[in-house]
Amino acid sequence: MDVEHLIKKLPKAEQHVHIVGSTRPETLLWIAEDSGLPKPFQTAKDARRFFKFKNFPHFIDVYCTVVDFITKESQFERLTYEMLESDARCNVKYVEASFSAPDHVLRGLDYGKMLDAVNRGVSRARMDFGIECNIRVDLVRNYGPEKGMEVLDWIESKNDNVISIDLGGSEERFPAKPYKQTYQRARKMGLHLVAHAGEAAGPESIWQAVNDLGVERIGHGVAAANDPELLKNIKTRGITIETCPTSNVRTRVVRTLKSHPVRTFYDLGLTVSVNTDDPSMFGTDMNKEYLQLHRKLGFSLSELFKLSLNALDSSFLPEESKSRMRRTFIKEYDRLLNEE
Ligand SMILES: [Zn+2]
Repeated sequence: MDVEHLIKKLPKAEQHVHIVGSTRPETLLWIAEDSGLPKPFQTAKDARRFFKFKNFPHFIDVYCTVVDFITKESQFERLTYEMLESDARCNVKYVEASFSAPDHVLRGLDYGKMLDAVNRGVSRARMDFGIECNIRVDLVRNYGPEKGMEVLDWIESKNDNVISIDLGGSEERFPAKPYKQTYQRARKMGLHLVAHAGEAAGPESIWQAVNDLGVERIGHGVAAANDPELLKNIKTRGITIETCPTSNVRTRVVRTLKSHPVRTFYDLGLTVSVNTDDPSMFGTDMNKEYLQLHRKLGFSLSELFKLSLNALDSSFLPEESKSRMRRTFIKEYDRLLNEE
């Protein structure tokens, strides 16, 4: 059987995907209608055209349009469900999804009700596709560490399926270091620690995430490629790099996929995973990510399966569920090899 067909059928796990960034163009029309707002587009075709990536400012424009149109907590159920439906189509079995709660609380929505809606989406997707999902709450660095502490208060009051915090937003303008105490508190609360770093900013940003925040995983981490000392440090500490290749090409963090450091990271023996970030806005999905790594960076089927296992092994699933899922992954992989 041809290898690309097998790649699509590989069991996968996704560690870095944003719920809002997974909004389908058609769903934006539904949100507008459900919110009682004038539709930004009359047809699904126009909506799809609007979502087609042009450049970074345009991406921000699309993202903010979706955020502004979300006026009901319940809308998160459909967004989460559809994100997981798309992942399930690529045989993704486990997802850790970023939920940028402060963006929506700022617009008057209730954190607890949103989390309930997200979890209804998770439950429905589990029933329909057998996919599992946990949530990481993004503190959104643009709002500052005090807001970060407030977000931890929210999580303390309600934490269903919340396993981790994340630090998204404008990395070049809002460094990680001021979040040291916030991350210390999150750790004491039993939350896992992740931060976006080394995407829009240089290696210094990753050093801060590693040294000051004590992260277990780094979102993007592209800038680490330019700092051998940092690479050594990441490897020694067993920190995972959640790469998002298509996203990085689209936002011009790297020039081309061929120049993406995911291959270097892998060859150096770092724990690296592959992810979609904002799939509907970057026109990608997990199959496309894996396929282009095969086509353009020479990843073999077994190397891609190793990436899958990396994503699962460095996930924040409880050990028992992790081993159970690992056995399923290996069984499915063996079956695929026999089909070959
Ligand atoms: Zn991201």
